[in-house]
Amino acid sequence: MPNAEIVAIGSELLLGQIVDTNSAWMAERLTALGVNLFYKTVVGDNPGRMKEVITRALERSDIVITSGGLGPTKDDLTREVVAEVTGRKLLLDPHLLEQIEQRFRRRGLIMTSNNERQAYTPEGAIPVENPNGTAPAFVVEDPRGVIFVLPGVPFELKWLFEHETEPYLRKKFRLAEIITYRVLKVAGLGESSVDDRIGHLIEKLSNPTVGVLAHPGQVDVRIAAKAANRVEAMKLIAPVEAEVRELLGRHIFATDNETIEDVVGGLLHERNKTVAVFEDLTSGLLAERLQQASSEHFVEGFISKNSTSISRLLAFSDRPQDLEQLAQDPVALTGKLALAVRAQSGTDFGLALHGVADPEDRTVNLARGQTFIAVTDGKRSKNHTYHMAGKSQQDRARMSLNAIELLRMALLEGMG
Ligand code: ATP
Repeated sequence: MPNAEIVAIGSELLLGQIVDTNSAWMAERLTALGVNLFYKTVVGDNPGRMKEVITRALERSDIVITSGGLGPTKDDLTREVVAEVTGRKLLLDPHLLEQIEQRFRRRGLIMTSNNERQAYTPEGAIPVENPNGTAPAFVVEDPRGVIFVLPGVPFELKWLFEHETEPYLRKKFRLAEIITYRVLKVAGLGESSVDDRIGHLIEKLSNPTVGVLAHPGQVDVRIAAKAANRVEAMKLIAPVEAEVRELLGRHIFATDNETIEDVVGGLLHERNKTVAVFEDLTSGLLAERLQQASSEHFVEGFISKNSTSISRLLAFSDRPQDLEQLAQDPVALTGKLALAVRAQSGTDFGLALHGVADPEDRTVNLARGQTFIAVTDGKRSKNHTYHMAGKSQQDRARMSLNAIELLRMALLEGMG
């Protein structure tokens, strides 16, 4: 298996002004291609340091992929540095120049002379046309390894990687094996509970492998198989996927790129059910997610900031009660809020999320407090209490997901 190194070029990456998403994206693709990625380096637009890093990469890796620094401006130095590192002259490629000129002409623009720089490539390099931008890419085959030079603009880089870099690497290194993933998304179980149920698979299997990755409120189980093609890989994945599904059951809410919004939106649509929500701790995030799930079936949202709005809403419940008395029993209060929001909006489901945060706690993840979630169809109800209540983005994401998950369970159980 050949090994690769990515060199991301650009001072803005070192200054923290932009995040190096190109490397993360390419890392995933290289792994899927069956290439080991051993190093990722970030370097600024400084010719000395670029030279040092690219030389080192070429010495220790079979494949070097650079991103960025290919534009027309003076601080775009990648082509000069690659020419120097590989001991080649920079030559004007008339064919590339013609393509760049044509791009400008088609748009009724006049090419400035600095764009001509982009038509230069190191002697003997393989030019790679970039249909989405003016900076062409190129490959240099050096005795130490190959350097694939790509532009930094993410959509240009992704297109070129898929259409040019991947086929080139497959052919050059006779990459027969590919890695295929299946991701099973789990809610309602923490990382350690998931590990408790499927830990033996994580430990004992080598192809496919099983791994877990935790997000706020969600755990992804990733099954990865290596095979000659996708069909063969899926054959290896299938029995393991069946076993994981058996062990985690209905806690698995989605597969691969599917989201909980997709799934719940699908269920609401299929069963033609509507929903309205009450939320305080999550300040509208739950409504936003339901809106994404299905704008057609999400009818209304109440975002409460204080007890006045709770009182006002409760006036719609069958038997309005004294709020002070209800606040003593937050589980019952949340149940009432779900009923009230359903009655007020005339929907099939009422979903309520009520959090009582600890004002002393300043942590930004898993902050102390309690969150109460209830869903009702007017006759039956389900509820859940969580011993955390943070207002950070992470905690709000976690709790809004838990609320949607409770609605999913209600739909699966035939409520409504
Ligand atoms: P151009 O033809 O636009 O000049 P280039 O190869 O010179 O392409 P850069 O100038 O280095 O690319 O970067 C162009 C833009 O692409 C940057 O402003 C940034 O928004 C984005 N970019 C560059 N490198 C990365 C990276 N590693 N990850 C994500 N985005 C990036």
